[in-house]
Amino acid sequence: MPFFCKDCTHRGVRTTNAGQCPACGSYNIEQRTFFVREPEKPPPKWRLPLLIALWAYLIATIAWKLLN
Ligand SMILES: [Zn+2]
Repeated sequence: MPFFCKDCTHRGVRTTNAGQCPACGSYNIEQRTFFVREPEKPPPKWRLPLLIALWAYLIATIAWKLLN
């Protein structure tokens, strides 16, 4: 069981047999699973087509204004 020492912020896989922090000898430890980083989410699939559509609209509007 992984643990986190509240006194010296030491993190380790296991405590000593007495349940102490191996780094500072403190009993003030908290057993917990480590924070696992979530993989970064890919951008939504609709974002690129939307961007292209917006640019196409903008260019079309400018072209229309220049031609008329
Ligand atoms: Zn400690």
